[in-house]
Amino acid sequence: RMKDAFANRHLEAKTSTGRVVEVAANIGGPDDLESVIENGADGIGLFRTEFLFMDRASAPTEDEQYEAYRQVAEGMQGKRVVIRTLDAGADKKVSYLEFDDEENPFLGVRGLRYTLRFPELFQTQLKAVLRAAAHGKISLMFPMVTNVADVEAAIQAVEDAKTALSAEGKSFGEVELGAMIEVPAAALITDLLAEKLDFVSVGTNDLIQYTTASDRMNPNVTEWYEPTHPGLWRLLEQVAAGALQHGAWVGMCGELAGTLEFVPKLVELGFEELSMSPKRIGLVKTAIREL
Ligand code: PEP
Ligand code: MG
Repeated sequence: RMKDAFANRHLEAKTSTGRVVEVAANIGGPDDLESVIENGADGIGLFRTEFLFMDRASAPTEDEQYEAYRQVAEGMQGKRVVIRTLDAGADKKVSYLEFDDEENPFLGVRGLRYTLRFPELFQTQLKAVLRAAAHGKISLMFPMVTNVADVEAAIQAVEDAKTALSAEGKSFGEVELGAMIEVPAAALITDLLAEKLDFVSVGTNDLIQYTTASDRMNPNVTEWYEPTHPGLWRLLEQVAAGALQHGAWVGMCGELAGTLEFVPKLVELGFEELSMSPKRIGLVKTAIREL
């Protein structure tokens, strides 16, 4: 297995019937690029930008973020880079950002809910991403989307950022827009979300948590945090079908995407992109090539 994975990592993940699946990498910043390229990633399916915000005293400036995003876009040499906007809140607290004391932070203001509440923080990031998009193929993705209004608000925020950049005379590029599907209600309306978007990508770490009502951080409930729960798979089926119905591409960037036993079923359901920790890529490509 390991030998095949090593040999296959730079090859296309193509099934015997000719389906090609993009096998991409999850990263936390430009420092991960070396491992991404060494492991044969077809692209970046999840850039967790919160890492740029952690372990420092204040938020990175627009220029600092632009540098990081541009470096990744250029390093990937035309391959797609999916940049997720700041996913703060719940388990990801950033010391200098303001959070209310919430009784259930996983059900509180996190992800897109947070950045919509702090437009200045959001605009700074969106402008940095749009500027970096002039140097590579960047897609912009929003975490913790729950309803159509979230998507509309996010799209409006991107429009505002473009308007601001134009007014400042700064050049920028076009980006694809997508939503993470990690809330069951969003999974059930993927068709309605996909109508307004270019792609969706399933965050199974959170989707399993919210579907099974089992905190992903709580060791007392791992028994219920079940990746094989049929309820989860009914949702995944709807997500794939809902996206394809509107011509949006559908991917997955949670842990499940890199778990070999689930790969055949995901390909069968129509998932076109699977994104994972770089060292899993060769193994998953091998599994897909054997289908
Ligand atoms: C997920 O929820 O599956 C995901 C990819 O995002 P994160 O693990 O960063 O919450
Ligand atoms: Mg998540």
